[in-house]
This record gives sequence, C-alpha cells and structure tokens, in this order.
Amino acid sequence: PRQFFVGGNFKMNGSVDTIKGIVSHLNDAKVDSNTEVVIAPPALYLLLTREHLRSGIEVAAQNVFDKPNGAFTGEISVAQLKDSNITWTLLGHSERRVVLQESDSFVASKTKAALDGGLGVILCIGESLEQREAGKTIDVVTAQLSAVAKEVKDWSKIVIAYEPIWAIGTGKVATKEQAQEVHAAIREWLGKEVSSEAADNTRIIYGGSVSEKNCRELAQEKDIDGFLVGGASLKPAFVDIINARQ
Ligand code: 13P
Repeated sequence: PRQFFVGGNFKMNGSVDTIKGIVSHLNDAKVDSNTEVVIAPPALYLLLTREHLRSGIEVAAQNVFDKPNGAFTGEISVAQLKDSNITWTLLGHSERRVVLQESDSFVASKTKAALDGGLGVILCIGESLEQREAGKTIDVVTAQLSAVAKEVKDWSKIVIAYEPIWAIGTGKVATKEQAQEVHAAIREWLGKEVSSEAADNTRIIYGGSVSEKNCRELAQEKDIDGFLVGGASLKPAFVDIINARQ
C-alpha cells in the first residue's frame, strides 16, 4: 500500500512570525502517523522552518536549479538544499510553468538534477481549462510526464501532484470522479512507460482548492494518494487535511 502523502505549498506567502506560528501549530497537532507530511515555505524561510519544525515532518523547496553551482544569480542548488536539511523540492508547479514560462524539458532537467542529488521531488502537472474543454487533459499530463521519463528512469523518489490549473486557488475543486479519472490514467501511463513497480508504488496526489471540507471524499478514491495543498496549508485546517484518511 502507498503511504498517504500531504504537502503544503505556502507559495509566496508568510513572514517570520506567521511561519513560526504555522510550524508551532503543526508541532503541537495530532497528525496521523501513517501520513507523510512535507511543507514548502518560500526559500527565504526554509532554514527557519527546518530549525523550528519537529522531526518527522519534512521541508521542501518550491523550486531548485539544475546546475551544481556558479554564476546563476537568484538560483539555489540541490547541494545547498541538502546542506540545509531540506529533503524535498516541488518542481513544475503551474505557476512556474505559466508565469515564469518553464518548459517541460526544463522541469525534466531540474527533476533529474534533484533526484541525482538525493532530493525527493513533488512533480506538479496539470491542464488548463481550455485544454480540458478541448478534451486534451490526458495528452497534456502525459506529455509533461514523458519529458521527465526521457531523463529519469528511477521514479521511486517522485511524488506526482496532479493539479488542474482551473482548480488552483479558485475554490472550484475537481470532483472525485474527475480527479480519479486522471489519476488512473497517470498510473496506467506509469505502467506502460516506466514500470509496473512505478505504477504500483508511485504516490499520485491531487491539488487544487483542497479544503478540510472536500478532502475526505477525495481521499476515498483508489488512485488518490494524498494532496498538495495551497491556501489551506497556511491555516489550522491543514491538520484536518493531513488526517483525511483517519
Ligand atoms: P490551492 O490549494 O490554494 O488551490 O493551491 C493548490 C496548489 O497550487 C498547491 O500547489
């Protein structure tokens, strides 16, 4: 059985004070010990978060660069994250693909660099509303995955986050049927293009307007192995989402 996985993506939110508050709430909360929990604060607060957060909860960067070191102003390396006890990174979030214009191949290159350096990767994929309405959802997500499969053979440290763009920050959560359909297609793709072990073992989590109200129903679906939470990860309700399977 795949371990339930819940990530909190703070995006460009928070301050020293508010992040300390979120961390101390998590430290004191009763969280399901069967759930793997990872939080991703802005880069500036990674060390602060790691220093204050209890052991057993991991910290992720929201992005990482694919070069080992050198003249890359504004970027952070895999080795620098490892050196700071940051064990995961998000990659390919739609806000980076769309706003920062990251290509599928750039995301793939960074995924390879992160895995080679020993990080876990939460690989975000998902379609726009226009792509969904044109019936292209599965084509879009499998193209995003195929770019990574060209560079990466071992998927054991990848968690795939399916995040339909139209559901992110909109309050318009995918229905459990919509999410399950895409998750099942992703698992089928893993079986065909990677391996049957990857299909069985890879966590495929859902993101997009997940809340304490809708998480339990989604968590029942057989191919939904957890969540990537944006807005609600900044609130006490995040703990209810972590405990969605309890
Ligand atoms: P919301 O939960 O705020 O919709 O954001 C989802 C997301 O983008 C997580 O990475």
